[in-house]
Formats: sequence, structure tokens, C-alpha cells
Amino acid sequence: MKRFLSGLAFAAFSFAAAATAYAATPDVRMYRLDCGYMTLGDKSVMSDEGLYQGQSYDIVMSCYLIKHGDDWLLWDAGLPEKYLAGPITEGSFATGLDRTIVEQLADLGLRADDIKYVAVSHSHFDHSGQVNSFPNATLIIQRGELEAMADTKKAAAHYIDAGLFSSHISGDKLQRVRIIDGDVDLFGDGTLQAIQTPGHTPGSMALLLKLNHAGYYVLSGDQWHFTENHQRQQVPTWNYNHQQTVASGNKLDQLIAGKHATLVIQHEPVDNQKLSKMPGFLD
Ligand SMILES: [Zn+2]
Repeated sequence: MKRFLSGLAFAAFSFAAAATAYAATPDVRMYRLDCGYMTLGDKSVMSDEGLYQGQSYDIVMSCYLIKHGDDWLLWDAGLPEKYLAGPITEGSFATGLDRTIVEQLADLGLRADDIKYVAVSHSHFDHSGQVNSFPNATLIIQRGELEAMADTKKAAAHYIDAGLFSSHISGDKLQRVRIIDGDVDLFGDGTLQAIQTPGHTPGSMALLLKLNHAGYYVLSGDQWHFTENHQRQQVPTWNYNHQQTVASGNKLDQLIAGKHATLVIQHEPVDNQKLSKMPGFLD
């Protein structure tokens, strides 16, 4: 564990040095990728107040491909490829995936190795499932999430599967990992800012994008799972910490209001349908 944490400190230092390389403000584009779908047979897991008993609902899994100047960053990495055989039923979930991220990148003439960064909102399987398809990208992840991953008891308690990151993290050995801690301006130019939102998991984060024409957008990770979940600031039963979730929700709402940002709840079909699908993009 000690060696692991000293590795984290080293990677965080390297990131600070790299950020200074980006002084000019480049063009930024955001593409939406289709990263799977799920029917939740028991919607009541989405609120720890005992609501939604006996209801089911459908969500989408979304990944976002972001062009920052000449660099490509993937925000979240969708469901694992095993769900191509889906829908696969596990407990009350029925989960499927139509196309891999790499297949969708080919539509833009891109290969996996063209992706320089893979940033994950958190480590759950529906957001990190294809990280291992990008072994040469730099993984961007919050320190709190890495620490939870390194603690096998904590990881098991919060549905964190370290195997999803085997291309970058193996025991206490890290390869091409950029650890961030708190709110971080990823390129030092205000275009892409990671916003720390602990609560769903110990190291969850959202992404604030500044687009030249479309304005500010917030990709909210799993802070909320659907529109009413946001409106009522509901906390899913499986979250890591109720109080932290509520505090992170308030923080994100203040940010959205202050920037007049458009919120995209990543699992909400309605929010994602408003975004044009590849090859369309926002800029
Ligand atoms: Zn999720």
C-alpha cells in the first residue's frame, strides 16, 4: 500500500508538469458514443427513501469523445465487451451493448491508439468497462477512486472491479495513470475541468466543458441517474455515502447555475437524445 501511494504522488506531480504545456485555447468538440443500455427491474434502488417500489425503467450508457486541439480524450469507457452478447440478465438488471467503443471510433477514422486520455467519472463497470481497450492512453482518475480500488474490502463493498483497469493498474504498479485530486483544470486552459463529486463512489467526478459555440456543458457521471433523481436530489441505496452525495449534488447544481451550463445526466435517455450522435458533434 505504501509503495502504491508513493506511485500516486509521483503521477500527480507529472500531471502538473504536463498541464503547463497547453497555454493556447484550442477548439474543443464533444461527440456522444453509444456505450450500452440497461433495464433496471427494480427502480427502488435509485432512492434510499423507499420510492419506486415495483417499478422498472430503462437507462442508457453513454461515453463522450472529446477533441481538445489535436488530442482525443474519452470520458467514460462504457460497458465491458461481454455485454455484446446481451441483453444479459444479472439479478434485476438486463444489460446489453451494440457496438464497442473501438468500433465506433473507426467511424471517425480513429484507432484505439489515437486516444490520448481516458478519463473515468468513476470505476463502476458501466463507466470503465472498456478501459483495457486503450492500453496506451493515459488513464485519468481521482485519487479517492484509486485508493478505494487498492483496498480490496472497500472495493468489494462499493462494486469496484480493479480487473477493469488491468492495462493500467496492477497491484501497486501504475502505468500511464494521471491521478487527480479535487477540482482540476485538465489542460490548464479552462476548457475541460474535472469536478470532484464524491458520494456515489469515494472518488466520483463530473466534467465541465467549455465549448466555443455551445457554451458550458456538464457531464455529471453518476451524481444523478435520471431527471427526477436530480430534481429531488435522491440518493441511490448503493451509494458510498449519503451526505457526500447530497453535498456533491448541491455543488454541481451551483456550478451549473453559475455557468448557465447544460446538464447531461449520463444515464438519462432524454438528455442524450438531445445530443447529436456521431459523426455529429457539439463545439
Ligand atoms: Zn452508472
